[in-house]
Amino acid sequence: MKNMGTVYEVLNKHLCTSCGTCAGVCPVDAIKMIESPPGILRPHINDAVCNHCSLCLKVCPGIRVKTDINRFDPFVGGISASYAGQIADSGLLATSQSGGIVTGLLLHALESGYIDAAVVTSQNINGSVRPMVKLADKPEEIISAQQSKYCPVPLNTFLSSSRGFNKRIAVVGLPCHMHGLYNVGKELPGFVKNIVMRIGLFCDRTLTYGAIDSLIRSAGFQNRKIAEFRYRSKKWRGWPGDVYIKDEAGEEIFLPREARLAIKENFTPLRCRLCYDKLNTFADISVGDSYGIAEPKQGLSSIIVRNENIHKVILDGAKSGKTNLRDVDPFRIVTGQGMGERKKQFSFFASAWERMGYMAPEYSLKYDYTKAPDSIDLSAYEKILKNALTIEESIR
Ligand SMILES: Cc1cc2nc3c(=O)[nH]c(=O)nc-3n(C[C@H](O)[C@H](O)[C@H](O)COP(=O)(O)OP(=O)(O)OC[C@H]3O[C@@H](n4cnc5c(N)ncnc54)[C@H](O)[C@@H]3O)c2cc1C
Ligand code: SF4
Ligand code: SF4
Ligand code: SF4
Repeated sequence: MKNMGTVYEVLNKHLCTSCGTCAGVCPVDAIKMIESPPGILRPHINDAVCNHCSLCLKVCPGIRVKTDINRFDPFVGGISASYAGQIADSGLLATSQSGGIVTGLLLHALESGYIDAAVVTSQNINGSVRPMVKLADKPEEIISAQQSKYCPVPLNTFLSSSRGFNKRIAVVGLPCHMHGLYNVGKELPGFVKNIVMRIGLFCDRTLTYGAIDSLIRSAGFQNRKIAEFRYRSKKWRGWPGDVYIKDEAGEEIFLPREARLAIKENFTPLRCRLCYDKLNTFADISVGDSYGIAEPKQGLSSIIVRNENIHKVILDGAKSGKTNLRDVDPFRIVTGQGMGERKKQFSFFASAWERMGYMAPEYSLKYDYTKAPDSIDLSAYEKILKNALTIEESIR
């Protein structure tokens, strides 16, 4: 059958996370990531160029992540240390998302020579409010990527341009990006050999690009050229931040964060309902907001360290004065992120999806997560999945 052995198999199963790994590894550059009208980003294959090598399918984390990492709790992952922290520069703390630890760590790693460049995600470039993936080798480029873009980012497309780039790079990404890099490491280790630091963000979900357009409409700015869109700016009321929009003429508006929270459920992609790895367990360090620790208005980051080599870089960064860290009990981070509820929700959605006759993603977890207890009524979960499926099917 046409397109068998390519990532179209993943699209047919509705399991794409929009991570861009397939496009990053395709040896003939046959794959482009294209946005469809409801704001969904998907790979499109140029049939005239594709040679059916199946590499894209082999590395796709949307359909499968076969980890051989044996962990006590796969939802939590390995932990060698945990901190709460902030970037020391108060200006950069104000413009960061949480405590600015990601930016602080990258700036320290670049200045100390531990890395030569970092793969980051910017927004508001060249008049577009869609995210843009960048290999940043200057401090100002790392700084301009501050703040979270709660939308799909085809981060791993960077693999196509970093082939043959022999310098040491850091990657900042969501769990599904790290899953893609993990799969690539198994199939094509040469592609990832220069990645020396994986900074993972916690991730509850993204929202389709339709959410950006909806918020711009709510602000009454739909007929204007937008110069800047931010999901969570601290400028108005501090952390956790409000939606900020500025048009080309310089007019600004804030929408209270409640406006973003109110549309979350409607714009959540189907695939995010089937994702277990909120805490980014495949990264060297995982960073998120400081729920469960303290919630200062300037923002504070939770940090889980998973790799001792990177632990040294983090401690050096603090010693050099770039960041401020304090020890915290990892249990507070895990409970603050609501991981008990997350496990349940993941199991219920995966069970409902299978009952609807679809395949859940293959994760090698230690128990059968697609078996919700018989006593659980899954109809509400099925309804949510069916709604999301209607949107997915509208683009096929
Ligand atoms: C989609 C998404 C969902 C999240 N969900 C949660 C959650 O449920 N709980 C929680 O505590 N934290 C969550 N976070 C993480 C949180 O929002 C902050 O990103 C994190 O705390 C780091 O803050 P910081 O101040 O250290 O980062 P900053 O110093 O502001 O730097 C932000 C970095 O994030 C990178 N980045 C931004 N958006 C993306 C993206 N979409 N994909 C890849 N890289 C990106 C940028 O390149 C930049 O380097 C989420 C982030 C995202 C993007
Ligand atoms: S999940 Fe990633 S690798 Fe798989 S099809 Fe989607 S964009 Fe490609
Ligand atoms: S050439 Fe190979 S990697 Fe590229 S689209 Fe075709 S099957 Fe996928
Ligand atoms: S919830 Fe999972 S699939 Fe969705 S964006 Fe986050 S890491 Fe990717």
